[in-house]
Amino acid sequence: MLLNQKYEIFPTYGQKEIVERWLHYCRQLYNSALLDKQRKYKQNKENYNRFDMQKQLTIDKEAYPFLKGIPSQPLQEVFLRVTKAFDNFFRKDASYPKLKKHKDYNSLTFPQFGINKKGHKYAMSFSANGKLFNTMLGEVDILLHRPLEGKIKQLIIKRQGQRWYAIFCVERQAVSSSIDLNNAVGIDVGLHQYAVLSNGKAYENPGFLRKQEKQLMKAQRTLSKKKKGSANYAKQAQLVRQHHEKVTNQRRDFLHKLSFNLSKDYSVIAVENLNIRNMVKNRRLSKSISDAGWGLFRNMLAYKCEKQGGVLVKVEPKYTTQDCSSCGERVKKSLSIRTHICMKCGTILDRDHNASLNILKKGLKQLATTE
Ligand SMILES: [Zn+2]
Repeated sequence: MLLNQKYEIFPTYGQKEIVERWLHYCRQLYNSALLDKQRKYKQNKENYNRFDMQKQLTIDKEAYPFLKGIPSQPLQEVFLRVTKAFDNFFRKDASYPKLKKHKDYNSLTFPQFGINKKGHKYAMSFSANGKLFNTMLGEVDILLHRPLEGKIKQLIIKRQGQRWYAIFCVERQAVSSSIDLNNAVGIDVGLHQYAVLSNGKAYENPGFLRKQEKQLMKAQRTLSKKKKGSANYAKQAQLVRQHHEKVTNQRRDFLHKLSFNLSKDYSVIAVENLNIRNMVKNRRLSKSISDAGWGLFRNMLAYKCEKQGGVLVKVEPKYTTQDCSSCGERVKKSLSIRTHICMKCGTILDRDHNASLNILKKGLKQLATTE
């Protein structure tokens, strides 16, 4: 089982400059590999793969010596990102890969960490006094607020707003237990209530989060009234960024707690395999959807269920809101209709509760056919 453990790091001004430079070059490399891949496909249907990109990099390193000033691990990992972006697109999980802007490229991946079998240090390792170490950076302060458990498989250095983080991917033995199908729940995630369970329990979006989001919107409105390029604009933009970061952190916190509690309470959890891309087509909904962090919530549920020895089942979302959970009759309803009323069997349920019951039913059926 692979898990991520995240710690804040505190690079000095000089170290930040170096890492920013690495990010910049990795992003350029990403964009140029992306363009090469597109061009080669258009010209002669050539499948320009990771290894071709790597060969090109060897040539580029001779022509552009500055590329030698970046650890080669994160440089090569860039190509994995490019190929993954295309794979996701072909699997219909993502839209067509785009060029990355500065704000979209925030992390460097070191696929190896620590000391190899021969006793040599990889590009990133711990120094004797427990700091993060790289020969070009020197020692970087890290706050290990909880112990790192398991074998470290890779390290990601990430910029988030004004802060920097080290994310270790560690391998751990999974807690094995037989799955209890009787302790199963379906979850419908939505905008009105964050999550509604098939047993009728509902979780609201927390109030402090709504308050923070209102403040963020207000700060954004103020920003739009300021003159671009002015000192006041820059100051307000900084404020918006801070609010944004706070909201993101609090939402993540809320989702961590909720997903942890759910994974602890239930052995089987069924959720919809929502295609975010299709949903965002509905413009009016798009902002709240991306804000609600559903994708993130599902990912958290997935690894927390695994950690607790349970299972997360993703079901096809078709008709989960329409169908009657007691008799199966299809009852069409628009988004504004909040109650499910079945004329055939007389069932009356909250719309989201009805959906979560359908999700559970589909999930259990899916489990029965795959195991
Ligand atoms: Zn019915």
